[in-house]
Amino acid sequence: TRTPLIAGNWKMNLDHLQAIAFVQKLAWSLSDAKHDFGAVEVAVFPPFTDLRSVQTLVSADKLPLAFGAQDVSAHDSGAYTGEISGAFLAQLECSYVVIGHSERRTLHGETDEQVGAKVSAALKHNLVPIICVGETAEDLEEHGPSAVPVAQLRGALIGVASAADIVVAYEPVWAIGSGQAATPEQAEQVAAALRGVLAETLGEDVAAKTRILYGGSVKAANIAGFMREPNVDGALVGGASLDLDEFASIVRYQK
Ligand code: 13P
Repeated sequence: TRTPLIAGNWKMNLDHLQAIAFVQKLAWSLSDAKHDFGAVEVAVFPPFTDLRSVQTLVSADKLPLAFGAQDVSAHDSGAYTGEISGAFLAQLECSYVVIGHSERRTLHGETDEQVGAKVSAALKHNLVPIICVGETAEDLEEHGPSAVPVAQLRGALIGVASAADIVVAYEPVWAIGSGQAATPEQAEQVAAALRGVLAETLGEDVAAKTRILYGGSVKAANIAGFMREPNVDGALVGGASLDLDEFASIVRYQK
């Protein structure tokens, strides 16, 4: 059995003061609603500059929220101006790190090879990588639904040890920020193909326990449909993760 994960990717939004206010309100709101964090895990992904504030808040108040970063360097330390080491993130008690988000791939030219190197770096520092894959509208037309995400996942898993704790996020590029989410059936089809890749490369046991998230225009109104699919184990939420009530409703999708 896989514990569902609802993850909020804030992207480049909310400064450290706004982050403190938001995380505190989110934790209160979910506790008031008696959310069972053991049954549905909740994680937020603030900008790097917010992580220390979020860590302080979470550890001081023992908030049951996990948090992580939106990217990590493939290197441990050294002359890499502007990069952030996984060692630093681990020191800040990050549990997760988002790797290979489509915005990194398209706006910053990240290749499958670089994504793979970052996955290895995350694992080395005991951070759980959330490996993002997804096809563009053109890919979909040219290659069908699963080909590109499957190839991206294979690339990201080169060199990954079979015991590794990872999460995969399927985010069709055409669904991100467009208001046009995939259908639950579309998400399920690709998630099943991705689980097949996990089985092939890391073994059946790892495939059975690895969570696969759907991302792309997830809202309170459509989350339940995704969560009913057998191979979809949660969501990576962008825009709607910045709206407290909306995100809290997504987390409480069973209610
Ligand atoms: P939206 O939820 O805004 O479509 O963004 C999805 C996403 O990119 C999460 O990483």
